[in-house]
Amino acid sequence: MSNFVYLNNKYVNFKDAKIHIEDRGFQFSDSVYEVIKVLSKKLLDIDFHISRLKYSTNELNFNVKINKLHLKNIFLRLVKKNKLSNGIVYLQITRGVQSREHAYKKNLKPNIIIYTAKKKFNLPNNNYRGYKAITYPDIRWGRPDIKTTSLLANILAASEANKKGAYETILFKGKKITEASHSNVWIIKNNKVITHPANKEILKGVTRTILIKIINSLGLKLIEKEFSLKELFKSDEVFITSSGSFVSPIIQIDKIKINKGKIGPITKNLALSYYNNII
Ligand code: PLP
Repeated sequence: MSNFVYLNNKYVNFKDAKIHIEDRGFQFSDSVYEVIKVLSKKLLDIDFHISRLKYSTNELNFNVKINKLHLKNIFLRLVKKNKLSNGIVYLQITRGVQSREHAYKKNLKPNIIIYTAKKKFNLPNNNYRGYKAITYPDIRWGRPDIKTTSLLANILAASEANKKGAYETILFKGKKITEASHSNVWIIKNNKVITHPANKEILKGVTRTILIKIINSLGLKLIEKEFSLKELFKSDEVFITSSGSFVSPIIQIDKIKINKGKIGPITKNLALSYYNNII
């Protein structure tokens, strides 16, 4: 838990960081967020997070101007004040406070909350782990491309995985895989890397965006296309990407072992390339 929180232009102690009960983020999940990786005190992939934050706030018509330099300074200040080496910066912007009513009024003043948390990452070293996942229907709302805190369907999915001793939940819509409860999903078949296109059905992950550049630079064949549950189970390798999970192998899905339950060579290579790209 971090000691200092940035709350609307002030740095306050964690326990003193309070939000109004009629904040629309609290009442309606009328809010957006970003999670930024911090490795050895360095903020990673920051420009991509800021662009996506702009996209989310624009799509929802929030009354806020996103200033990259200003935010970056706050992030760095918090990392320093909270003595964070490895972990995340969490940022949330809510539409603001208003007497409870579904329709929002124009020009509300957004609440901006930023804090840090320590986290151990699954990095491709001696402790690199492969995870179990389960499958679960994608019952989220129609705009998962916007990074909102409206995450109840993701929470149900993630909690189901937790109950079953799995790390992630891979979501399917009909027969197609979309993504996972808190990450993007990739499969490898015959040396081809396949992932769902970045359209309105998934969140366009920052880690995904960077990994695509790496895949292309390595000369690997990348296909952005929908794939089915059947293709998922018959994959040579499966992995997920996110700011919290980096590039993490999935070695079992439901009862099916992937790559005989071992981390695959392409996944490990991509994880190493991603890691080498950021340090
Ligand atoms: N998809 C979902 C549903 C997520 O919640 C996340 C991250 O939280 C991602 C994908 C991966 O996004 P990023 O790589 O930007 O962390």
